[in-house]
Amino acid sequence: MSWHATILTLYPEMFPGPLGISLAGGALERGLWTLETKSIRDHGIGRHRAVDDTPAGGGPGMVLRCDVLAAALDAAAPAGDTRPKLLLSPRGTPLRQARVRALAAGPGAIVVCGRFEGVDERVVAGRGLEEVSIGDYVLSGGEIAAMALVDACIRLLPGVMGQDASGAEESFEAGLLEYPHYTRPRDWEGRAIPDVLLSGDHAAIRRWRREAAERLTQERRPDLLNPPPADGEG
Ligand code: SAH
Repeated sequence: MSWHATILTLYPEMFPGPLGISLAGGALERGLWTLETKSIRDHGIGRHRAVDDTPAGGGPGMVLRCDVLAAALDAAAPAGDTRPKLLLSPRGTPLRQARVRALAAGPGAIVVCGRFEGVDERVVAGRGLEEVSIGDYVLSGGEIAAMALVDACIRLLPGVMGQDASGAEESFEAGLLEYPHYTRPRDWEGRAIPDVLLSGDHAAIRRWRREAAERLTQERRPDLLNPPPADGEG
């Protein structure tokens, strides 16, 4: 059985979008993963299929109704579906590679895309949603965040990346940012490829890359060197 993503959204026409192209798109065509997009609006209330309403307590914007979202979730995930139910939310646990790896190792994911001011809080507990954030900034909707999450999972599925090894050395895998890459031309605008990379001395190259990765991480992301507790088991 292939990795199965079900996306709940008010804008199903946004999918597969970028997920239909390049690495993810090729893998989709080859059946390494499957994508199902469900319209939340199909479960809207009344003649106008209303999905949102004004916030209790007042304030700007609209809130996605819990009953509508629950109906959409219940239809998308029949009893016995063991996939985690994720809600994209800026208030969620920041997504890290360890969680991506754990998700990719599982059967897939049910992914809810919020819109407006967000969703009625009660559906989170009521349907056991795991809130996931893709960063400390606010998007206008969960769709782009869902694409980022699904894309990160897809590239780790067996057979998706050309070279089996090419996942292991990347940024975050060893708790470090990746070392810098170079390719032809050897000299470009007065900038040369570091000699050691052209030396053929594989031990020296490994050492240089390791040191470069450590230096970059220290400079740019010292927080990675003292990481918070792993969230990959959740
Ligand atoms: N009022 C909310 C923001 C709503 S943005 C707040 O202040 O927290 C509308 C929707 O976009 C959210 O429901 C969520 O699904 C999505 N979204 C916005 N930023 C996101 C982020 N950083 N990570 C994941 N999803 C995000």
